[in-house]
Amino acid sequence: MRKIIIAIDGYSACGKSSTAKMVAEALGYIYIDSGAMYRAVTLYFHEHHVTLSNEREVEKALEGISIEFKRHDDGLHTYLNGMNVEDEIRKMYVSQNVSEVSALAAVRRQMVGQQQKMGKHKGVVMDGRDIGTVVFPDAELKVFMMAEMSVRAYRRQLELLNKQQMLNLDEIVENLEKRDHIDSTRAESPLTQAEDALILDTTNLTLEEQADIVVGMALERILDDSKKLV
Ligand code: C5P
Repeated sequence: MRKIIIAIDGYSACGKSSTAKMVAEALGYIYIDSGAMYRAVTLYFHEHHVTLSNEREVEKALEGISIEFKRHDDGLHTYLNGMNVEDEIRKMYVSQNVSEVSALAAVRRQMVGQQQKMGKHKGVVMDGRDIGTVVFPDAELKVFMMAEMSVRAYRRQLELLNKQQMLNLDEIVENLEKRDHIDSTRAESPLTQAEDALILDTTNLTLEEQADIVVGMALERILDDSKKLV
């Protein structure tokens, strides 16, 4: 069967990653968490005290970064220069700085280039903020996810709790609102809904329902494409 690219964009904590993972599993596709790449860059910049306003310093630091994903029993883990940073990049100090880092043109150029290479052979589900607009503008299926803030914050709180991080809801709402604002108003590839994206409001959906809807849409696209080829 012909393979397609599935781009899932949307606001923070709408369930993009969890849905994308399940969709990839159901279709036998590769899942790529583009947000993890921006988080890994943020971690590196933090550890190396990179000044974000210094373009040369940023460019130089980017040369020293290699990001990979490796399969573990519980899913894909993010590696930064050979080190497993999967847990570290999910911590609050990274969430608090990632939107400033990912607004930098040099960072986006580098990450987008790598993401496009990863999708060269199709059969990929990638989630992020600019996947359907910038990374894969020709993706066969584009989904734009949203959900009410209270639901998003509660889901994120549970997710963090599962990782032994206890945060109150106000703190989480503040972080999500700040990231949404920076992500949607930045000059470089801001978070916007692609014109041809299908909107999926997950406020009242379970994870399984969300994933089923996207798998259904994907199968429709794959079948449509196959018919066109006959
Ligand atoms: O998806 P996640 O919430 O882990 O992404 C973390 C941050 O990375 C986002 O808030 C955004 O600033 C940035 N990001 C981005 N473009 C993407 C994916 C993530 O700018 N494609």
